Amino acid sequence: MASRHFHRSRWADFSRGLTSGRQAAAMRAHLDAGCSRCASTLAAQRRVAVVAAADAWPAPPAAAVRSIKALFALARPEHRSRLRSVQLKPTFDGALVPAAAGTRAAVAPARRLLFESTRFALDLHVTPRPRSRLADICGQLLEQQTGSGVAEVPALLILGDRILWSGVTAELGEFELTAELTGSPELWLLADERHPISARLGP
Ligand SMILES: [Zn+2]
Repeated sequence: MASRHFHRSRWADFSRGLTSGRQAAAMRAHLDAGCSRCASTLAAQRRVAVVAAADAWPAPPAAAVRSIKALFALARPEHRSRLRSVQLKPTFDGALVPAAAGTRAAVAPARRLLFESTRFALDLHVTPRPRSRLADICGQLLEQQTGSGVAEVPALLILGDRILWSGVTAELGEFELTAELTGSPELWLLADERHPISARLGP
């Protein structure tokens, strides 16, 4: 391939029609040049978008349901004061599509956030919804050493004593959620049995 592949999160944006004109043209040209890898990434993201829109994610496996219950217990406020999650360090925060001057200024650009510990990396792609406080978050939990996704990890988004969202990472360590990011909620992931890792998400 002459040009570089586009990141999965870019194809996620593309499949939702959130890509700027010039970027979209470059991506279409890349597909037209015959990149089968990016074509299959796009096809997968389109399936994810359809499933997410229908709110019809496949049911998580029984073991994951059991550990999500354990994670709920650990995340209860009375436990949280004693049990500290391992905080992932934010290592990157950047706009994905630089806002074009004077155009579409009402829409905040999508952001890519990266959090890391020695063992894990958490890659988040945050797309604010126009005229809304909600943001769509597309994330992936990766093992640092191998670079591969970590599947079937229970996850919670917590704000104070409220659980805003709960889910389980899919086959490639990916997950999707929609939430309000005001008040800096924390994302907890039970990647290590009984020892959650967490990342604080800003507005
Ligand atoms: Zn490609």
